[in-house]
Amino acid sequence: MLAVRQRPLAGIEAPGVVSALRFAARSAFAATVSPHPPSRVERQQRMSDTEAASVLQSAIAALRPHPTVTIDDTGVRRGFQTAAQDQKLIEGVLALAVVEFLTGPLASRLRSCQAPRCVRYFVQDHGRQQWCKTSCGNRARAARFADQRRD
Ligand SMILES: [Zn+2]
Repeated sequence: MLAVRQRPLAGIEAPGVVSALRFAARSAFAATVSPHPPSRVERQQRMSDTEAASVLQSAIAALRPHPTVTIDDTGVRRGFQTAAQDQKLIEGVLALAVVEFLTGPLASRLRSCQAPRCVRYFVQDHGRQQWCKTSCGNRARAARFADQRRD
């Protein structure tokens, strides 16, 4: 058996925590697409909404963000500063991006791809889009055709 040694990502000391954050993020995606179906991964196993919210909230809180306001000739911008570094910074920024996205204008167009073997979520470009990319659509049509031939 070949042993594969993975090099840790820069700044990641506890990859398990990042995996938990990913699990929380995907569970939040699954909650957001409702009443549309979640990805096949979240249909099998999903973090509770309360636990997912707690994981994301803790990661953001660890940033200890300080709000900033910038005003110049181009307008007013808000942001935040943080002294967090390394893993806490990565976790917090990831969690913040997830929450910003899922509370933003694109969240209502989030869907899970229902093509065979696909576990992705995507933002619909139009109301009838069912697959994340063309190859998933082709795979789904081929599977449907094979099912019809079988019957
Ligand atoms: Zn897909």
